[in-house]
Amino acid sequence: MAKLINTIEHALKKPVWDCRMCGQCVLHATGMTCPMTCPKTLRNGPCGGVREDGACEVRPDMTCVWLKAQARSEKLPRVWREEFDELRPPVDNQLHGTSSWVNLLTGRDKRTPDGWSAETAAAHGGRSEAAG
Ligand code: SF4
Repeated sequence: MAKLINTIEHALKKPVWDCRMCGQCVLHATGMTCPMTCPKTLRNGPCGGVREDGACEVRPDMTCVWLKAQARSEKLPRVWREEFDELRPPVDNQLHGTSSWVNLLTGRDKRTPDGWSAETAAAHGGRSEAAG
C-alpha cells in the first residue's frame, strides 16, 4: 500500500513541483516551491551566493529557488505566508523516497534530530548544535 501511495504522490507532484520525494513536504511553507530543487537543497532560505541577477551560484541558468519561493509565498494565504519565516529542521535523509503524505499522517515527518529545536537552532544562527 505504501508503495502505491508513493507512486501516486510522485506522479502528481513531480510534473508540477519537480518533487524529489524527500518525505517531509514543506511546499505550503515555501511558496509552493520545492526547496529540494535548490542545488544545495537548502530548506531555510538562500545561501550567500545568489548572483546579482538573482541566478543560482551553482546553476547560473536557473533563478534562485528561494527568490521564487519568496515571491510566490506572498500570493499564498496568510497562514502559509507566516510559515515562510519559520525555521525548518534539517531534512531527514532516512525519509528520502518515502511518501510525505504517509509521513504526515503518522507524524514521522515531525521527528527531528536529537537535541534539535527551532529555538536552539535560531540562537545559533539557524544551525543545529551538532552541525556547529
Ligand atoms: S515532498 Fe519534499 S521533495 Fe517533494 S515537493 Fe515536497 S518538499 Fe519537495
